[in-house]
Amino acid sequence: MDAYHMPLLSIANSIGTPLRIDQNNVNRVKLGQASICVALDVLKPVRDKVWVAFEEEESDVIVEGFWQPISYDYYPSYCSDCCYLGHNAAVCKRMEDIKGMQLKPGLMWHGEGSSG
Ligand SMILES: [Zn+2]
Repeated sequence: MDAYHMPLLSIANSIGTPLRIDQNNVNRVKLGQASICVALDVLKPVRDKVWVAFEEEESDVIVEGFWQPISYDYYPSYCSDCCYLGHNAAVCKRMEDIKGMQLKPGLMWHGEGSSG
């Protein structure tokens, strides 16, 4: 990568591990947007913007900056209850099933000496 692509990689690095820059950006066409394929850690919060700062070359003092919005073509849902990709904890059926099984009287253990 050359100096032209370094800001893109820097932004991508702040949200995950950059894997591939879109060919339009590599060839410097369609410069209205940048697209980068990034490996994300689904356990970390999703960032929808990144602060881009400009430093003075000699002093490294930040002279200005702006918030760069980030959008995702695809972001997988992740369930923190059952640790599966494809749904989130708010709609997790597995945990509902497990909780339901524990509450069903017919499935409760009745060992020896039980009065039931
Ligand atoms: Zn789940």
